Order: sequence, then C-alpha cells, then structure tokens
Amino acid sequence: MKAITLNLSERLLWQAVLALPFLVGFWIWESVDTLALLWALIGLFVLHEPLHVVGYALVGRRAQLTVVRGWLPTAAVHVVEPMPVASYRVGLLAPAAWMIATCLVGVVLGQVWLMTAGLGGLATASSDLALAWKTRSTVGQVQDHPTDLGVLTD
Ligand SMILES: [Zn+2]
Repeated sequence: MKAITLNLSERLLWQAVLALPFLVGFWIWESVDTLALLWALIGLFVLHEPLHVVGYALVGRRAQLTVVRGWLPTAAVHVVEPMPVASYRVGLLAPAAWMIATCLVGVVLGQVWLMTAGLGGLATASSDLALAWKTRSTVGQVQDHPTDLGVLTD
C-alpha cells in the first residue's frame, strides 16, 4: 500500500488560502449580524464530520466502514477499510459541497451572514480539499491513513 499524506506546510497553505475570502468578507461587510454569523459558523462546524458520514453512507454505502476517532472539537471520521476512490471522494468532499451550497444560498437570498458563514465553513474543509487535490490522479481503492492526515492506496 502507498501512503499519500498532507504535511503541515500543505495544510497551512490550504487553510490560509481558503480562510482569506472569509476574512476579507468579514472585514468588508461590517453590517454582518455577528450573532447570526456565530451561530451559523458553530452549526457548520458541528455538521462537518456528520456530513462526511452522510457522504460515505449515501454514495459509498460504507458508513459501517467509518469510525470516529478523538473527541470534540477535534473528533474526525476515518474510513478504516478500503473503498473505491470515487466513493471516498464523495464522502471526503461532502462538507465542502455543503459549505459552498450554504454560501450560494446566502448569495441568492442576499444574506451576507449566511454567505460569510459558508466561506468560513469552507475554510474548515481545507484539509479535505487539499487531500482531494493531492489524490486527484489516484485510482482503485483507498482508506484513511491510520495515523497521519491522508490515505493509503493500493
Ligand atoms: Zn473534513
């Protein structure tokens, strides 16, 4: 099995790039309802890991292959048995897709706090997006790396 993992500098780079639109938006839109934004951010943060499980369960039909490691707020869902990379990507990117949808709903409804919360939520999915990018040419079966942030492939 081959390991594809994210190192600290890769994680920080993706976090910084994805946090930038949120911070700029937060800085520009001073009229943002701070309390609504705070609740939306907490809601999106709490939803992050369950959205991974929903993604693995709905498309990968593999929720039974996931386990939760650690405790809140750093608990994370891990895929502990190999699954097809296409199914893995759906579960991996489910939170990012939800955050983008939240942002777009905010744009459509003209709700700046919802759009900003979506951008903030997207920043919390930076490692997921970085891993999706790094495994973009991976084929076959993957599972989460047992100790590092990344995957094992065959
Ligand atoms: Zn994630």
